Amino acid sequence: MKILNEFEKHVLLEKGTEPPFSGEYNDFFEHGIYVCKMCETPLFTSDSKFSGHCGWPSFDSSIGNNVKEVLDQDGMRTEIICANCGAHLGHVFRGEGFTMKNTRHCVNSISLIFIPKDKLNHSLRTDYNL
Ligand SMILES: [Zn+2]
Repeated sequence: MKILNEFEKHVLLEKGTEPPFSGEYNDFFEHGIYVCKMCETPLFTSDSKFSGHCGWPSFDSSIGNNVKEVLDQDGMRTEIICANCGAHLGHVFRGEGFTMKNTRHCVNSISLIFIPKDKLNHSLRTDYNL
């Protein structure tokens, strides 16, 4: 497991939220995949990323069953976590009409690590259609 700094611990372990428009992947549209910062499980591809203008990276789908949804304690929002290690990623919203999939995974940049397409081997690029 990766050693996290204090702010990463706050977001990933204590379900904190980075300030809007502050994260390194908010306005970032390179081709590649986004993996969990804690365990490096692939979570999202650049294909699913779109501009939600909300201040956090937005994805309209996740990879396989690697992102798990959990109802918040207040029952109002649905939290998303890494299905492998349980790290907090953000929240998922549906019915907003941003894309055809009508789903927005609103994710903290700090929960993710981006791996550019040219760092992935051929079979992974094929798997993720990159
Ligand atoms: Zn993880």
